[in-house]
Amino acid sequence: MTGIKGKVIALTGASSGIGEVTATYLAGRGARLVLGARREDRLNAVVDRITAQGGSAVGVVVDVAHREDLKRLTDTGVDRFGRLDVLVSNAGTMAVSPFDELRQDDWDAMVATHITGLLNGIGAALPIFRRQRSGQFVNVASTAAYVVTSPLAVYAATKTAVKVLTEGLRQESGPDLRVTLVSPGFTDTEGVGKGGSPEAAAALLQQRAEIAMPPSAVASAIGYAIEQPDGVDISEIVVRPTVQA
Ligand code: NDP
Repeated sequence: MTGIKGKVIALTGASSGIGEVTATYLAGRGARLVLGARREDRLNAVVDRITAQGGSAVGVVVDVAHREDLKRLTDTGVDRFGRLDVLVSNAGTMAVSPFDELRQDDWDAMVATHITGLLNGIGAALPIFRRQRSGQFVNVASTAAYVVTSPLAVYAATKTAVKVLTEGLRQESGPDLRVTLVSPGFTDTEGVGKGGSPEAAAALLQQRAEIAMPPSAVASAIGYAIEQPDGVDISEIVVRPTVQA
């Protein structure tokens, strides 16, 4: 199926930032959406806004660290809309800090959200895609998957894992599946500077103010990968502000 219209797309991290804007972008182009995140009120607000604008969306409260939650998300696509065409694994957390602060809960959250969460999505969607003989994974990494800057090492390591897992999945995907990595640079979202050490957060917030691009830049990159014809795989997109080194 070429294009976005009619596709059933599950998307994690839909309650704010890149996920919220991507959901709105895809809904505006006729996708049928299954949106996941933990904050029910924020998620419902996104679903309500899309529905009020004539779009099609359902919300499922999920923590991507939990395997059964991802299964509920992807199964909702099949139960409500009869199939699942795309899983966008976008949920993420950027709670960064220097190692000496030993913010091990933040390290655990990044591993659980970016690595375990991605694997839970693959585990949930792959059997559906194989059964259908079609499907697409779109995994959101970061420019931090390409270069390590202090104090972002744990974040960068988990995003590097997203990149590696995506490439391995692509190599095993065969002719019926498409696998796309989208790596944004600095993007103007509430996730920048949220959590982690106050000093690191302040530095990120300053950078956000100086160089961030709008989340719509990432949404249209994701849309571009999705709208290609079945046999065409956009394997990797890096999208960053021109002023980002
Ligand atoms: P936001 O904080 O605005 O969005 C993050 C989203 O992920 C929220 O919807 C949040 O929802 C969800 N989320 C976080 N943890 C979990 C979890 N365990 N289970 C389910 N949902 C979860 O930040 P961004 O939009 O900036 O981030 C989106 C993605 O883009 C992330 O993967 C991030 O790493 C990546 N990215 C962002 C960049 C930037 O500069 N902004 C640059 C490069 C990559 P809730 O809290 O409701 O669960």
